[in-house]
Amino acid sequence: MNWIRNFLKPKIKSLFRKKSSMKGAPELWSTCECKQLIYREDLFKNLSVCPNCGSHHKIDARSRFSIFFDHSQFEILPTPLSRLDDPLNFQAKKKYSDQLKDARRKTNQSDSILVAYGKLNGMEVTCAAMSFDFIGGSLSQNSGEAFIAGISRAIEFKTPFVVFTASGGARMQENLMSLVQMSRTVLAVNELKKANLPYFVVMTNPTAGGVTASFAGLGDIAIAEPGATVAFAGARVIKDTVKEELPPNFQLSSWILEHGGLDMVVERKYLRGTISTLLQILLKKKESQVISETETDDVESQINPKTSKSQSA
Ligand SMILES: [Zn+2]
Repeated sequence: MNWIRNFLKPKIKSLFRKKSSMKGAPELWSTCECKQLIYREDLFKNLSVCPNCGSHHKIDARSRFSIFFDHSQFEILPTPLSRLDDPLNFQAKKKYSDQLKDARRKTNQSDSILVAYGKLNGMEVTCAAMSFDFIGGSLSQNSGEAFIAGISRAIEFKTPFVVFTASGGARMQENLMSLVQMSRTVLAVNELKKANLPYFVVMTNPTAGGVTASFAGLGDIAIAEPGATVAFAGARVIKDTVKEELPPNFQLSSWILEHGGLDMVVERKYLRGTISTLLQILLKKKESQVISETETDDVESQINPKTSKSQSA
């Protein structure tokens, strides 16, 4: 039926295209990988998880904070920006400086990581979240600075630090300036751990490359959302290198959990409760550690009072 394919089908498509591209009109419907058309408000109410198949859709940093903190109340931490946004004056198909401008306009963020603080079940928490919409959530100089500023804030105010990752990896348009953020963020996490403060990582879809290989891989508790791809190199690259068939769920959070790379896979609706409960346990443990250290000192002073006195002098 040529007339259906050549005339009717394009006509129907153009009708839908006109509706969805009406300027100023919010798009009412969203689609999912299960091919179900979802009323956008229903998707939003369901924390951007498909009510039909349970697929966890990507959400930006502000939406993440909004569903994570008590009563959706949080403060965004101002974070430093590099003096040179485009240190290499990089250009591929598009100028990197233009890519940055577009991403900033589209996301209302200065770079891929935002840091916020607020309360989780009454406990003060510092939190960072990545927006995949900002050049694939890639790790840049500015996002490295934001992450470090967040950790510094957590240490200063003695709060736990939670990061929600969503990234394709390092931002290659910045070359070494991006790669060095891997070691800088790792050093920052070490400082947090030295301060005895809990560090939680929640890996959302996708978390890959230099982000997986740096701060995302260091959580005291490593959590991922269901269906999230967590990887260093992509499955296609691995398959071409090892020349073997890979399992169908390769690099999905459920597969990583089975192979010991994650502590738990938690649905988005349970993240607040799970993290809050674990934080309560860890913070209590910290208190008991302090007590046990004091007890140890007492025991030491009883066994060897001379050593104890010389230490305190
Ligand atoms: Zn779905």
